[in-house]
Amino acid sequence: MSEKTSKATTAEDLIPKQPGLPALRESAADCKACDLWKLGTQTVFGEGPRRARVLMVGEQPGHEEDLSGHPFVGPAGRLLDEALAAAGIDRSRVYVTNVVKHFKWEPRGKRRIHKKPNSQEIKACKPWLRAEIGVVKPKIIVALGATAAQALLGPQFRVTKERGRLLESELAPYIMATVHPSSILRAPDDETRRTEHRKFIDDLKKLAEVLGD
Ligand code: SF4
Repeated sequence: MSEKTSKATTAEDLIPKQPGLPALRESAADCKACDLWKLGTQTVFGEGPRRARVLMVGEQPGHEEDLSGHPFVGPAGRLLDEALAAAGIDRSRVYVTNVVKHFKWEPRGKRRIHKKPNSQEIKACKPWLRAEIGVVKPKIIVALGATAAQALLGPQFRVTKERGRLLESELAPYIMATVHPSSILRAPDDETRRTEHRKFIDDLKKLAEVLGD
């Protein structure tokens, strides 16, 4: 066995030179840079226009995304779609993706329950996100939830304290963090859910202001 084939292939190794989104998506489909490929049905790569001005990043695909192969198509994705519409942002002009591209889960009865990716898995998958950002070159990156926010803004970042703030970043002219829509769905009661939903839309309205739509 040659030295090259004996080494584990990293995501970085798989990224084509000067890639476009289709080439990235094709390469990521074969990624085995961490063990999550064994758990997930398929790689769920980001989707949206190549020159989207907004790039939204969640944590990882969920059950429905894993089966369909498309990001943000489950209940949290539907909530995101509604919130974007309420904030006056055209969803078809937003690129959506995740920090980790395979579904990490554990069995509970017959159900597959979301399990948070660990720091090694996030690190292993991050080259794909960097490559997506490099191709799309968004004006604003929106981190949805703590995993995405900390992957992009550092482990000290607290969404609870700094949500909705437009920050400067080397990744894009602006970056903003807010909650993941799945956290709104998990709210303990209807009143909390309504309040959190309203706050989420208020955060997204700040994007509309920056975009000038
Ligand atoms: S989670 Fe990311 S790094 Fe791990 S196998 Fe899937 S695509 Fe590769």
